[in-house]
Amino acid sequence: MRRTFRTALAALAVVGLLAPAAPAADKIRVVATIPDLKALTEEVGGKLVDVEGLARGTQNAHELEIRPSLMLKLRRADLLIENGLELDSWADVAVQGANNPNIVRGAPGRVDVSRGIQVLEVPSTRVDRSMGDVHPLGNPHYSLDPGLAPIITQNIADALGRFAPEQRAEFEKNRQAFLARLDEAMARWTRALEPLKGARVVVYHPQWIYILTRFGLTQAATLEDRPGIPASPAHVTRVIRQMKDEKIKVLIVEPWNDMKLATRVADEAGAKAVVLASMVGGVKGADSYIGAIDHNVKALVTAMR
Ligand SMILES: [Zn+2]
Repeated sequence: MRRTFRTALAALAVVGLLAPAAPAADKIRVVATIPDLKALTEEVGGKLVDVEGLARGTQNAHELEIRPSLMLKLRRADLLIENGLELDSWADVAVQGANNPNIVRGAPGRVDVSRGIQVLEVPSTRVDRSMGDVHPLGNPHYSLDPGLAPIITQNIADALGRFAPEQRAEFEKNRQAFLARLDEAMARWTRALEPLKGARVVVYHPQWIYILTRFGLTQAATLEDRPGIPASPAHVTRVIRQMKDEKIKVLIVEPWNDMKLATRVADEAGAKAVVLASMVGGVKGADSYIGAIDHNVKALVTAMR
């Protein structure tokens, strides 16, 4: 991490001479760490914001390499929207390199949208970080649950409203319009997943607990030993046996994870490995917030049919 940071800083000194593309002067310049938060900020901010994202949808958001291009995006940001719960703690490194006081930790422009979220899978004992567990504060992947979008968008609307109080009504109007569309989609998703209630699935990385819980599915096991820790051969054997014993038909895989291992496990267990969009843009066609969840719901229903 430290070496990456130094390399990136050195490169930034070179590219620093180039002016970043300037967004329209009167728009609020927002950077979001992950695509889900970029998509939701665009819904709330509408025409009043110019939003850039740092991680791409196909990446593992836990492990982002901090490149000078990311620091450039942050240099002129008014607000930085972050997921929190240590998913995107790499943002600190990028902010340090960007030298922008608006968005340092503690500044009003630094916005953690996990506020008010009831965090799942909080470890009962203190996690030893040296073991590499990437969910030390509980599961950070709450944005995958559309039922939590009202809270996330409220946090975003509050932050935009603090920055531009005269536009508060506009942000709230945008947010309500989005939530109305989300409500319609929610009814559709609930109907589609109703027959799968109580079904047990295995997941590769524990990224899915919020959406599974929302719709009444159960996470029976994870293919990773612990969050972020590759599966040991003994653990793989255990998971395959469990899937056979419990007749588990689906292994959910993230676009960035080891598809080869997932396919082998699914084959041996007589199940299917299904790639879901772990973030907006994670798979083809999942290019909006509602679109990504649409994709995930359809893929689950098809796989478990
Ligand atoms: Zn994770």
